[in-house]
Amino acid sequence: MAKIIASPSRYIQGKGELKNIRTHVEKLGTKWFILTSPSGKKRVEPAIGQSLSGSECTAVYEDFNGECCDSEIGRITEVYQRSGCDVVIGIGGGKIHDTAKAVAHGVGAPVVIVPTIASTDAPCSALSVIYTDDGVFDRYLFLPASPNIVLVDTDIVAAAPARLLISGMGDALATYFEARACRDSDAGNCVGGKTTLAAMQLARLCYDTLLADGFQAALAVENHVCTKAVEKVIEANTYLSGIGFESGGLAGAHAIHNGLTAIEQTHKLYHGEKVAFGTLVQLVLEDAAIEELEEVLDFCMSVGLPTTLADLGIEQVEPEKIMEVARLACADTDTLHNMPFEVNADMVYAAIMGADALGKAYKDE
Ligand SMILES: [Zn+2]
Repeated sequence: MAKIIASPSRYIQGKGELKNIRTHVEKLGTKWFILTSPSGKKRVEPAIGQSLSGSECTAVYEDFNGECCDSEIGRITEVYQRSGCDVVIGIGGGKIHDTAKAVAHGVGAPVVIVPTIASTDAPCSALSVIYTDDGVFDRYLFLPASPNIVLVDTDIVAAAPARLLISGMGDALATYFEARACRDSDAGNCVGGKTTLAAMQLARLCYDTLLADGFQAALAVENHVCTKAVEKVIEANTYLSGIGFESGGLAGAHAIHNGLTAIEQTHKLYHGEKVAFGTLVQLVLEDAAIEELEEVLDFCMSVGLPTTLADLGIEQVEPEKIMEVARLACADTDTLHNMPFEVNADMVYAAIMGADALGKAYKDE
């Protein structure tokens, strides 16, 4: 199997960069179809209008109905085709991005992704997660290419609630450890190849950036400012983790996350918050060095990411439920099998309880 690395053609990040959007996008098309929410539109329309004034480019806005599902993709595809536009721009969070990517792929148009939050590492990926009309996971749509452009205005991302950036750090925390597991087991990555030296280095840089700047960045966004640390963490959450997970591969942390979704209480938590705990579980499963475990525990506690089952909203631990999480994480189709050793549900159960005990002991210190 060949080594493959996937990436958006351009990744652009800067304070106030949205007002320069025309310079970046006019090379792809001049009639822009912008998919966003009504609240997103309010936030971005002034900067986009300023960027377009006096140019040949025009923009039409379409409201997103809230779910990335086949009926919504079909509806937006029809609106796009009637609009005479030549480029799709998705502005907002994950479901808007995934819908924009799917529509653009269907009509053969270039796609530009503008994240307004940095809560996951999905924006750079060549993937759409499709749900049913009722919001239940349906399938992954693997796209033949990554977005043409990912444009991040850090002033906008830093103005979102702090918990979103912190959740993004939880998603990014797993990237290096999952890529390392895939490398050690010689497992494939998410784009049908083996990992490259470049993807491994980006995954490592992602982790190092969180350790160096995560705490300061969390404090800054809690105080509604965008410092250099915030900008570094936005790059780590969006780009480094995006390339790192897709081209490095997923393993334990995301499989544990997927298992945890079976527990009702965890639904109040964001993806990255559950992934952070999944990372601890993966490290316990690997019997990682205590220094490494302590480094991850320290980091999680410093920014307020979960380290115990109670932090995930599971106050009363029922062994059968945890066993169900463990069994789900071991599903044939999930990525726990990318770990460099055989894993079974008993081992995952023990690792979940072991991680919870470590997290509790650490809090009591
Ligand atoms: Zn993730």
